[in-house]
Amino acid sequence: MKICFIGTGYVGLVSGVLFSDFGNKVICVDNDQKKIDNLKKGIIPIFEPGLDELVIRNYKSKRLSFTTDIARAIKDSDIIFIAVGTPTAKDGVSADLKNVYAVANVISKNINKYKIIITKSTVPVCTGDEVEKIIKKNNSSSKFDVVSNPEFLREGEAIRDFRYADRVVIGSNNLSKTKPILEKLYEPIIKKGAKFIVTTRRSSELIKYAANAFLATKITFINEIANLCEQVGSNVEDIAIGIGTDARIGPRFLRAGPAYGGSCFPKDTKALTKIGDKFKTDMSVVKSVIKSNEKRKSKLADQILKILGNPKGKKVGFLGVTFKANTDDMRDTQCLKIFPKLLNKGVKISYYDPTGEKKELKKIKFLKSSEEILNQNDLIVIHTEWDEFRSLNFKKAKSKKIKIFDMRNLYQPDSFLNKKINYYSIGRPVNEKKAR
Ligand code: NAD
Repeated sequence: MKICFIGTGYVGLVSGVLFSDFGNKVICVDNDQKKIDNLKKGIIPIFEPGLDELVIRNYKSKRLSFTTDIARAIKDSDIIFIAVGTPTAKDGVSADLKNVYAVANVISKNINKYKIIITKSTVPVCTGDEVEKIIKKNNSSSKFDVVSNPEFLREGEAIRDFRYADRVVIGSNNLSKTKPILEKLYEPIIKKGAKFIVTTRRSSELIKYAANAFLATKITFINEIANLCEQVGSNVEDIAIGIGTDARIGPRFLRAGPAYGGSCFPKDTKALTKIGDKFKTDMSVVKSVIKSNEKRKSKLADQILKILGNPKGKKVGFLGVTFKANTDDMRDTQCLKIFPKLLNKGVKISYYDPTGEKKELKKIKFLKSSEEILNQNDLIVIHTEWDEFRSLNFKKAKSKKIKIFDMRNLYQPDSFLNKKINYYSIGRPVNEKKAR
């Protein structure tokens, strides 16, 4: 099938490359000329394990191409995916849909035969209706269908998540025509076990927001339980096992840690509350999740200050600054809210991240390795759960008195007993002897 992806970011590039790997002809389009030029040279704009090899292989086979010529790409394709960003709008809550509508306008002017237009971007319920309206201005309804097909991949695991998806959701108001075509397109994934879920377009749009809000709620819930554990001397990991083994609850997304962050949960939870407001529906659960998550970042900054004692002039080194491991994405990462509070109190911050120096952290000192972080700081904060932080050589640290705040619970508290290390973690008793 001839497909184009408009928007070649985390979602557009990964999905585009994988559809080309399944044997389709895929054109990845972006309005960022530099990104497209780099991709043509084999320079991948994002850090995503395994992606570069796939891009280069499929580009060489000519199944995959890159362009900024959006009009040509639309004309040459049967299926058009819209995968542009839908960040938080200026009001700080709603989803900004200007990229989606801009693309819909261009599509409307370039339809030369029947096309399926798919919103893969996360968009509020009823956006498909609006996209359809825009395209209808220049075309009869027999020439196109607008379908919702939200994406559930996770950064850092994107290739596996796309290939071995739990489900493929298709929302269309013309299923008799679109379902067989999309079932064929997704056949390689369905054959691997993904459930193929078909529904109306509005339901599909809402599935994506409901999924993200639910996962954000699970994370926030276990983080609140971790807070309570710290007060009563319980162990949040035991609680997570104790509740997660209940099939009704499930074990995933019950790892206490820093607040949720990243390019999806923060913006999508906020947008869902706005959708609720628009349709006069109480979204108080999601609203309180957002509030609790915001408070958590402030609480973690306070915990750091407390560990430091007198913070002025003290040195804190962060290991990892992205919101999770295996990505270079800095959007809404937790430390962006923690750093200002520390800087205000005169703390000197440095960081090391396996994906390199970050433009978002111009005023913070970047160190080239975790060893440098260990050697040059009073307190080391394990902020992101990269594998390379799981076996740090604390013995090599120059300072005799080293403090560690492990926000990801990568280590067991009892492994620090009798060592000259003050170890702090999340929701676990300090210096607890492991019971299991
Ligand atoms: P991104 O910012 O990485 O990529 C978006 C791309 O679209 C950018 O390269 C940008 O240059 C391009 N673009 C914007 N406007 C354009 C236009 N008018 N014409 C052509 N290109 C244009 O965003 P992303 O993380 O890939 O997210 C895309 C969508 O997918 C969002 O709605 C997001 O919520 C959703 N989503 C993201 C993830 C994720 O893990 N990142 C997962 C599931 C869903």
